[in-house]
Amino acid sequence: MRIVCLDLEGVLVPEIWIEFSKRTGIPELRRTTRDEPDYDKLMQFRLNLLRQHGLGLPDIQKVIGEMGPMPGARAFLDNLRERYEVIILSDTFYEFAHPLMRQLGWPTLFCHSLETDADGMLVAYRLRMPDQKREAVKRLREMNFTVVAAGDSYNDTAMLGEANGGILFHPPENVIREFPQYPVILNYDELRAEIDKAFARV
Ligand SMILES: [Mg+2]
Repeated sequence: MRIVCLDLEGVLVPEIWIEFSKRTGIPELRRTTRDEPDYDKLMQFRLNLLRQHGLGLPDIQKVIGEMGPMPGARAFLDNLRERYEVIILSDTFYEFAHPLMRQLGWPTLFCHSLETDADGMLVAYRLRMPDQKREAVKRLREMNFTVVAAGDSYNDTAMLGEANGGILFHPPENVIREFPQYPVILNYDELRAEIDKAFARV
């Protein structure tokens, strides 16, 4: 009764907004919560920008589909799913993740959603619930699952703390410094080995 919870961006696929910004040549889309701590303002800014550039959901999905997952991500995931149940917990949106999920063989994904108008323009975003990564792990444990979680950044640390075992994958320096209790892993082979080890410990 073991479940692996994985972050998506920075673990299995590139950071979607940053890669999207590069591919569309819209530098303002690189803006993150570090530049604009108010998430709602940041999202309204992004949605307005996409509308100004005439980018509707089909255009956005085409660009995202071309990004593809990280090299080796599909094989890592397929292999992991043979032995464990796997749930991807992400703060992205289903509509963005869709083309990447196809390339990853449709794993289970819990994330947020977007609303479009009749022309396919993005008009609003819907967060499913606050702090969903942590809440999901907590509820899975209440259902008697043993959970090992892996992620790359701040928004993952609450779920790592809630899990029976937590792993940092390719984290930035400041996260490594602030959360020295988690092992730091840099490639998929080691990540798989560390997941197996974490389950063996609990
Ligand atoms: Mg991430």
